[in-house]
Amino acid sequence: MARSPFPPAETRDYPKMVIPPPGPRAKEIIARDARTVSQNLTKDVPLVVARGRGMVVEDVDGNLFLDFAAGISTVSTGHCHPEVVKAVQAQAGELIHICYTDFYYPVYLELCEELARIAPISGNKRVFLTNSGAEAVETAVKLARVRTGRQKVIGFFGAFHGRTYGAMTLTASKTVQRKGYGPLVPDILHTHYAYCYRCPVNRKPETCSVECLELLTESYFHHTVDPQEVAAIIVEPIQGEGGFIPPHKEFLPRLQRLCRDNGILLIADEVQCGMGRTGRMFALEHFGIDPDMIILAKGIASGMPIAAVIARDDVMKWNDGGHGSTFGGNPVSCASALATLRLLQEGLVDNAGTVGAYLIEKLQRLKGRHAGIGDVRGLGLMVGIEVVGRGGEPDPGTRDRVIEKAFEQGLLTLPCGSSTIRLSPPLIAGRADVDKAVAILDRSFAG
Ligand code: PLP
Repeated sequence: MARSPFPPAETRDYPKMVIPPPGPRAKEIIARDARTVSQNLTKDVPLVVARGRGMVVEDVDGNLFLDFAAGISTVSTGHCHPEVVKAVQAQAGELIHICYTDFYYPVYLELCEELARIAPISGNKRVFLTNSGAEAVETAVKLARVRTGRQKVIGFFGAFHGRTYGAMTLTASKTVQRKGYGPLVPDILHTHYAYCYRCPVNRKPETCSVECLELLTESYFHHTVDPQEVAAIIVEPIQGEGGFIPPHKEFLPRLQRLCRDNGILLIADEVQCGMGRTGRMFALEHFGIDPDMIILAKGIASGMPIAAVIARDDVMKWNDGGHGSTFGGNPVSCASALATLRLLQEGLVDNAGTVGAYLIEKLQRLKGRHAGIGDVRGLGLMVGIEVVGRGGEPDPGTRDRVIEKAFEQGLLTLPCGSSTIRLSPPLIAGRADVDKAVAILDRSFAG
């Protein structure tokens, strides 16, 4: 791995709490926020950030936190990686915006070429750049409908695809994300995701034969929906917001076969699980599938806003002028993405694999010490700890308290699913960072 520009965790005194958060400066900002900022943006913990460097986030009162959240899995190369900062500053001095819908500029093209080169889709590929994951999901759904001439799109229970109308309708993670916003987009359906422990068909992973897919073919394709009407099936290769849930290993290959047999496009939403997080550049590489489209966003550009839809050349055929974006593929974000991709390929993806395996191993041991840990699962540095009550039932209250206790000791984590702690540090994390994080989690569970 290329030498990290950040001092190693074992030589640095972090996390370090100088005052219980929120301190006086943080309190002042939180009070101002409460008066003016849209009130839906509620926080799990009262963190007010001044700056970030590598694995460390400093709050406005001088507390140093160890970041195992990475801006929801986004700051892949660590906070303010010098090479990313350099690329952003250089590009900002040359061209900030011109709009690729109207004119050409090289850095957009260079990023598209690089994404097309590395994407695990067979044959020639094309790329469309957007600003956010949700906009990329909208793009993929529009493209699937216009390309196939079909209307229906199928997603999975537990999936999260974004907040805009199409993406929100595809989302089936928490009801609060849809409640009150109807009518939603028509012709979007959901079916079961192959996660054996929660499977409505068969709760025993050892005997699972991915019957949830039969559920799809039985319940929809025989009774209500002709598969010839389905434009696309969209799937997160590893569910993120839904609970950091890798699927049964046969699930994605069988899903691909189902799509191919029926002329349905398979869209892999790698917004959260992609860009090296699982120890492979694309999470779908763990399952050996060849989708028709891949959606990327978080982690592409170390926190700069950009997302991408990569499609097989014969799939990305639009009606000219039918789709576009003013800011999508902004030059500064493209430059940040190119610097990020270089760093990922120079060792951070491999690091995510090895340090992630170490993290999972340590958490498995922690599971033996705390009855409240029901499950530890994940791939690479995409790791979930499911928190359970005495009867093994999901325990969101305890999960939230563990996250708060960890925060008070300087560890940043996030919730996901009904009772899961999501661990998704920057991909520069080292073993010493894992040791520190697991020690804090140990104390937080004990508390
Ligand atoms: N798809 C997945 C799998 C996501 O996790 C998210 C966001 O968390 C999105 C899409 C939406 O991305 P954005 O928030 O950038 O719109």
